[in-house]
Amino acid sequence: MNTTSSAVSPEFDTTFASLPERFYSYTQPVAVAHATPIIDNPTLGKELGIDPQWLASDEALQVLAGNQTAMGSAPMAQAYAGHQFGSFNPQLGDGRAHLLGEIVAPNGERFDLQLKGSGPTPYSRRGDGRSPLGPVIREYLISEAMASLGVPTTRSLAAIATGESVMRQGPAPGAVLTRIAPSHIRVGTFEYFAMQGDEEAVKTLADYCLKRHFSHLIKHQQPYLALLNAVIERQAKLIAQWQGFGFIHGVMNTDNMLICGATVDYGPCAFMDQFDPEKVFSSIDRQGRYRYNQQPGIGQWNLARLAQALLPLLHKDDEQALADAQQSLDNYVKHYGAAYQLVMSNKLGISKPQGGDQALTEQLLAIMAEHQLDFTLCFRYLLDQVATGAKHQPLGDAFIAPNELVVWQQQWQQRLATDPQGQTQRYQQMKRANPAFIARNHQVELAIRAAEDKGDYQPFYALLKVVQSPSDYQQTLRNFALAPMPQEVVQHTFCGT
Ligand code: AMP
Ligand code: MG
Repeated sequence: MNTTSSAVSPEFDTTFASLPERFYSYTQPVAVAHATPIIDNPTLGKELGIDPQWLASDEALQVLAGNQTAMGSAPMAQAYAGHQFGSFNPQLGDGRAHLLGEIVAPNGERFDLQLKGSGPTPYSRRGDGRSPLGPVIREYLISEAMASLGVPTTRSLAAIATGESVMRQGPAPGAVLTRIAPSHIRVGTFEYFAMQGDEEAVKTLADYCLKRHFSHLIKHQQPYLALLNAVIERQAKLIAQWQGFGFIHGVMNTDNMLICGATVDYGPCAFMDQFDPEKVFSSIDRQGRYRYNQQPGIGQWNLARLAQALLPLLHKDDEQALADAQQSLDNYVKHYGAAYQLVMSNKLGISKPQGGDQALTEQLLAIMAEHQLDFTLCFRYLLDQVATGAKHQPLGDAFIAPNELVVWQQQWQQRLATDPQGQTQRYQQMKRANPAFIARNHQVELAIRAAEDKGDYQPFYALLKVVQSPSDYQQTLRNFALAPMPQEVVQHTFCGT
């Protein structure tokens, strides 16, 4: 670690602190025994305007481990509630996270800088406020993979080993993650105040969200309805993107759904290998509430909880408020449908969607499900079919197409022949939508095992590098693209938090 004193510390400018004190609790991170850097993200730091020298400095290490308070930072834990697996919990809040403050990036965008695993807070209940290394590595890998795929997400700025162990199924090494988000305001933040009947706080929070995330809507005739509609649209688009990459969030509780529309809380999440619309990974999701094909519907259910919380603000006439909310929630289906169609058109290389495309897509998915084809490789194989130019490296025998798929391809090629765009454009469109590399669950697991059991971070670094360029297939990286062997398949991911 570099100790140059010329490094410039980030400047905090925390608007959330201007909200009433019942929105948060000021609370300090708890220092850790022996902070050791695992990784930092200077590329993200640069986007945020954080001095790379600072990020690599001993001061940053101490600040991001929670051992030292940065200048201008007044750490706090945010209050929220949430529906967890369908049941309401009135008191959640950051039980193991500290918001160090907000920073304004050079492009004018504002971000939260939060530590996760930084010790207990007034919202910890019986939790220890800590995080094991495994979940920190998982979140780092998957959030950065999602960002590279162009999916709105919280980001990871740094991970630091604490030198302490935490007790879960057994003892595990501890770590602290630095998480960056456009904000951490959740559907559950609204529910927290709405369920207490604190309408004033709901309004204050809604005004704050309008100003921070949807400032173009402040002057709208019905700003709160416009806010609801905007969140609905963002979530519909987000979840359509998840579906397009075979991503299963795993814990779509309302406290894990952000108003800004970024993916948050990478717990027992995973990208699926073999296509199975009923796929569940999470060991805690016994009923399959958050399975792959249920995600769009759960999105709407969660947004209904937001609508409910906003109800008193939507219209002074209660019935009209209810009718407006209902209309907005109905529109979710339309927004989701349009977003999903766009996602699938991109994957299939279609620039002007037509009526028959849905059936074509459904036939493909049915073949994939029947033959248990690997979701990512199957779509990538379609890219290989339209590829031109010597630079494109095809999957080769990494994916073997069954006969039914070859037959389907003829229909698909006929459809493409009627689509106006040129080959190069189509190739670029499909390349972005059909990555060769996702953060495969068995690879994530290998990276975690090496780090936790042997203190070896090389598999983590190697996998991270690959998923940061998800569309650029090279035969030398074939191993990272391959579907797991039967004995490598990870059936469940554990919350392990
Ligand atoms: P999550 O499962 O990460 O969405 O967390 C749900 C709730 O449990 C949030 O209020 C967290 O802050 C809290 N929580 C999770 N793990 C811990 C922990 N180790 N210590 C304290 N609170 C926790
Ligand atoms: Mg959460």
